[in-house]
Order: sequence, then structure tokens, then C-alpha cells
Amino acid sequence: MRALQSLKIVETGLSAAVDAVLPPRCVVTGGVVDRQGMIDPQVWRDLSFISDPVCDCCGFPFEFDVGPGSLCVSCLSSRPVYASARAALVYNDLSRNLILRFKYADQTHAAHAFIPWLKRVGGDMLGRADYIVPVPLHSFRLLRRRYNQAALIAQTLGKSCELPYLPQALKRQRPTPSQGKMDYKDRQKNVRNAFSVLPRYESCLQGKTIVLVDDVYTTGATVKECTKALLKAGAKEVHVLAVVRVVRAQ
Ligand SMILES: [Zn+2]
Repeated sequence: MRALQSLKIVETGLSAAVDAVLPPRCVVTGGVVDRQGMIDPQVWRDLSFISDPVCDCCGFPFEFDVGPGSLCVSCLSSRPVYASARAALVYNDLSRNLILRFKYADQTHAAHAFIPWLKRVGGDMLGRADYIVPVPLHSFRLLRRRYNQAALIAQTLGKSCELPYLPQALKRQRPTPSQGKMDYKDRQKNVRNAFSVLPRYESCLQGKTIVLVDDVYTTGATVKECTKALLKAGAKEVHVLAVVRVVRAQ
């Protein structure tokens, strides 16, 4: 315990030291701002936050309020395996830039900027959750990128909500090709049975409610496969929380 506390003091001290040496930069534009994790006020208004009304299941934003509990066309024709999904921002040039910088430029402090957004859209699911689990990266990709951005967001969110975070519960069983240009069908094929729960986590997941965290929700193919693995291992329900969501007309 004391070791943990000392580590915390060292971490806090390090973060203060880094802040003192490097000026805090906006996680979207890279411009200098007042404090770490802050967004340049000039770009703030161009970020497109998702708010109600949304599909009760997948969180697809509706143009008009169609009443509580309404489902989108896609969820009506095929209900996803997860209980619900929500995302903070619509995918556009700006949010794409935000995620790319976060992914490849070691903008790890950006995770802190995402937390209030995720808490706003994911309040209900976080209130019911027993655990937070990130979508895993395969170890090859982890080596190249040095960290898993979904795990970093999940860890920061877990700390902030005082929810246990299980970074290794889900495992990517095989490397899957990057999904950049794939459509939903190809993505579905690409990730089919790609995930499993490590046996040592099965007992703690029994009957539990999980919030599965990812940086971007594109077609939902990856999070649906992760959900299947968690449910198969005994979880009661899985909710998905992402920073950015691709919104295509249905
Ligand atoms: Zn939906």
C-alpha cells in the first residue's frame, strides 16, 4: 500500500515536473493552452458532440426526437449483442485528427480531456458497471505503438469513476489486418472469433456488467466480437463506450 502511495506521489510529481518543463498543448491543434488536457477554445466549437435524441441501443444520433426507448433502423433489423453503446463525438476531420494525434504522437495526456465527455454520454452505463475493460491490441501492434490507446482511456476512466479496470481480461487471439478501408461485412469477417477472455478472468466476470472502452466506434464489428467473448465467459451484460463514432446515414 505504502509502495503504491509512493508511486502515486512520484507519478504526480513527474506530471507536475513535465508540466513545468513543457508548455501544455491542445490535444487537437498542438497549440499552447493553459493546462494539460485542455482543448483550444477556437476549435472547441467545431467538435461535434453527440447528444440526445439517440438510438436507445447503439447511440446513433437522431435528427428528431422520436420518443424514449426508440431504436434506429439498423438495431431494429438486427439488435446488437451489446446492451448499449454511446460515443462522445461524431467522427469528422477534427475528431479524426484528435484520435490520430492521440494514437501516434504520444498524446497520452489527451486521455484526461476525454474523461468528462465519456462520463457525460456514459453516465448510465458507468453507474451500473462492475468493471471497465478495453478493446485489446495485438502484441505486435502494441510493440509498434508502445501503448494501447483504448487501454489508456479505460484506465484513466476507471480511476476517475473508481471502477476496477481489467486491462488483460480480453485477448486478441490473432493479429487482424488494419480495417481502415474495409466495409462492415469485411470488418465482421476480419475480427470474427478474434477475441477471447483469458481463463483466469472467467470467474470474476460471472454475472457482471462490463463497460467496454474503445477510441473509435466505426461499424461496431470489433466491439460486437469483444462483447460475444465477454458474454461467452459469463458476463451478464456489456455496454460500449467510445470517444468518437462514425455516423453514416442509415
Ligand atoms: Zn441503433
